[in-house]
Amino acid sequence: MSDEELYDDLVDSDDDVIEDVPVVAVVGRPNVGKSTLVNRIIGRREAVVEDRPGVTRDRVAYDANWNGRRFTVVDTGGWDPDARGFAARVAAQAELAVGAADVVLFVLDVTVGMTDVDEAVVKILQRSGKPVLVAANKVDDQRGETAASELWSLGLGQPHPVSAIHGRGSGDLLDALLAVLPSAPPDREPVSEGPHRVALVGKPNVGKSSLLNKLAGSERVVVDSVAGTTVDPVDELVELGGSTWRFIDTAGIRRRVREASGHEYYASLRTAAAISRAEVAVVLLDASEPMSEQDLRIISQVVESGRALVMAFNKWDLLDEDRRLRLEKELDRQLVRVTWAPRVNISASTGRHMDRLVPAIETALEGWTTRVSTAQLNAFLGRLVASHPHPVRGGKQPRILFGTQPQTSPPKFLLFTTGFLEAGYRRYIERRLREEFGFVGSPIEISLRERQ
Ligand code: GDP
Ligand code: GDP
Repeated sequence: MSDEELYDDLVDSDDDVIEDVPVVAVVGRPNVGKSTLVNRIIGRREAVVEDRPGVTRDRVAYDANWNGRRFTVVDTGGWDPDARGFAARVAAQAELAVGAADVVLFVLDVTVGMTDVDEAVVKILQRSGKPVLVAANKVDDQRGETAASELWSLGLGQPHPVSAIHGRGSGDLLDALLAVLPSAPPDREPVSEGPHRVALVGKPNVGKSSLLNKLAGSERVVVDSVAGTTVDPVDELVELGGSTWRFIDTAGIRRRVREASGHEYYASLRTAAAISRAEVAVVLLDASEPMSEQDLRIISQVVESGRALVMAFNKWDLLDEDRRLRLEKELDRQLVRVTWAPRVNISASTGRHMDRLVPAIETALEGWTTRVSTAQLNAFLGRLVASHPHPVRGGKQPRILFGTQPQTSPPKFLLFTTGFLEAGYRRYIERRLREEFGFVGSPIEISLRERQ
């Protein structure tokens, strides 16, 4: 396996399950009040109703929260299923929604009542087996209640009378929604308690212990003096750039386990353990020597573990012009997959650019914990697809219905699609995500939930 394949394999691996926030899809004919209801549900925090029926909205999914429960609400009015004809379009939209959602909110307009199109949608919803809530919208006052109760005849259970515009009944509707909604994973605080955890890793002799001495020696070492922290005896607390950092498994570095034959295996286990305990890894490389397979393996390990990454090229004092040029070529060739990682050129011996290390670590942690709101993400996806749609393959064109970012640390994205997005297109999405939102120093994971 080439490094590139190895990297793709690592990044595309889908085996760790993303804890997802449940999805509520709002379906119904145009003009029944779907967008207005979505705005009502999300408290008008993000959406703006595009008041032109039939216009494809560029934002379709939003973060919602009712009584502390999180969910994603999808306004299918923004979808444009390729089906021809009005009834077919609504039916296709309902079909997609049912596939993507955990719960469907079926909206009808009581001033119009049930139509043939609604009946076709009902069949799709019943077949799906998904929980369906009927919202009888435009019940602005008492008079509409009777019309609402007529919707019992849909056979989808109790109709919930609401006025999306005035808010009447929307609290009851949301309570009913929560009752059938799967629970979301708890809101995780991405930032750890206490000092940030840094792993200083790299193959033998790149200068780890020299760098640690420089960092710990130049400023106060504050072992055990930070309130509320218990320090693993193998770790070291170091004060740098105005904050305290926990350097992981420094005992392993200090003891300078010499990698005679056989020890290399233990050294690599130690590296893996340090990375897994850290939030950010500083991979130290010897700039005076050609990059080796071992260097690349350690970098891959960090990416695979989903940790923030900083690359520090040490022994910069040994570089002459010739080596510098060759290094540039190596970087272009071997590190194309991690161009997003901050790089610092340092010398543990002379202290060159030591002050750049902490800002690089901070930048990487910031990228690692970045969260894009569902509305922002879908506006972005709408623009991306408009300017660069997925290529047609075998007469089919997979479409992105909507996306969410259920996790940070590292950022993980979940795209709901109508087919498989090929690797090249996923890489394109990743590049564009980085251009738009940063994520400097952090791996990004993109998973797919395919429908149809
Ligand atoms: P969508 O096409 O289903 O997304 O429908 P919209 O949310 O765009 O609403 C269509 C029209 O119905 C708009 O003019 C809304 O102002 C209006 N509307 C939405 N909800 C209500 C409601 O509860 N009562 C009344 N009277 N009008 C509403
Ligand atoms: P470790 O095995 O990664 O902990 O590496 P060490 O810190 O033990 O360093 C290995 C060798 O490289 C030692 O002889 C260091 O003096 C030397 N070294 C470390 N950093 C630098 C540097 O920035 N410049 C130069 N010229 N030598 C360095």
